[in-house]
Amino acid sequence: MTSTGAYELQSLNSFGVSAKAERLVAISDKNQLPQLQFQPQQDLILGGGSNLLLVEDVPGTVFQVRLTGRQLTRESDTRTRVTLGAGENWHAVVRWTLAQGLSGLENLSLIPGLVGAAPIQNIGAYGVELAESLVEVHVWDWQQQRERTLDRDACDFSYRDSRFKSAEPGRFLITALTLRLQHHFTPRLRYAGLAQALQETSKNPDAPSALEVSDAVIRLRREKLPDPAQLGNAGSFFKNPVLEAARAEALAAQHPELPLYASQEGHYKTSAAWLIERCGWKGFRAGDAGVSAQHALVLVNYGRASGAELAQLAARIRADVWREFAIELEPEPRILPPLAPLT
Ligand SMILES: Cc1cc2nc3c(=O)[nH]c(=O)nc-3n(C[C@H](O)[C@H](O)[C@H](O)COP(=O)(O)OP(=O)(O)OC[C@H]3O[C@@H](n4cnc5c(N)ncnc54)[C@H](O)[C@@H]3O)c2cc1C
Repeated sequence: MTSTGAYELQSLNSFGVSAKAERLVAISDKNQLPQLQFQPQQDLILGGGSNLLLVEDVPGTVFQVRLTGRQLTRESDTRTRVTLGAGENWHAVVRWTLAQGLSGLENLSLIPGLVGAAPIQNIGAYGVELAESLVEVHVWDWQQQRERTLDRDACDFSYRDSRFKSAEPGRFLITALTLRLQHHFTPRLRYAGLAQALQETSKNPDAPSALEVSDAVIRLRREKLPDPAQLGNAGSFFKNPVLEAARAEALAAQHPELPLYASQEGHYKTSAAWLIERCGWKGFRAGDAGVSAQHALVLVNYGRASGAELAQLAARIRADVWREFAIELEPEPRILPPLAPLT
């Protein structure tokens, strides 16, 4: 399907901001790909639009990924490979795998969006990242005009990042993922709030089922995060900053309440929400653009905010955190065009 002429994207992004595209092309069959051209400067690949802030119109074509398919291949008595089309809904797939008796994705329940976007920022929640289950990413390489399969190492996954997001944005259209899931469930309850929630809901909180973990994650997320269908948002707007140990220790001496979590060797992760709240932004509202009163990391559209107003708000928050803590907050969603660098 191709639609041309100022196509409105408001219902296709979870912030619910108005922006237009010159053309909209739905990709529902891989055979369409060899006939298509992608120009990264002016075109956009769109999944569920839940990690995106459209500040301006898209001057070129929006490619809407609608490739479906769910395939199971038993590897052994303990593991099964699952290949999923990029246009499948992520949460529906998580619940479907659980219904097949397969575990591994339960902590990632209720993350909005489509399967194809999951590797872009290596989606993560409740102490688990996509990369832990991922075997291969199947792509269309616009540069080489051919299908390719990239194994996990080739994707350069790290915290909310990957080759697709940082090193080579715009080079690949992800067509499918292959994941490896488990027949025997080992709960991952590193995130304290999850273990606590299971104490209240699980029949056997020390050995919960994968479905119980998924249900608990869903309940926690519904309590904490605004539903984009009710209040426009893109989840966490900034990544949690990762600091070198010496810098983290110096900051902790100045701000003893600063939350610090050991991350990769010699580094600590701190809480972007804490930094933003300390700068007084939690619950702020200017017109229809605001910061959630429940969660300082979530920027919200109360109705008719424009992408530009939300981007301005993000830039002000970032400048304040920089002034106060000399920490540069990095946005998590794709912002089109990106925020100007801090000066
Ligand atoms: C309420 C809420 C809660 C959230 N919670 C989390 C969370 O806990 N953890 C987390 O990691 N994220 C979270 N997110 C962010 C978001 O849901 C994820 O990043 C999700 O993977 C985005 O999927 P999407 O299909 O909506 O991507 P889109 O917003 O459509 O696209 C995001 C980026 O990926 C690119 N892209 C999309 N599909 C493809 C493809 N097939 N091939 C190549 N490029 C592609 C787009 O061009 C864009 O750059 C949350 C968002 C919301 C609104």
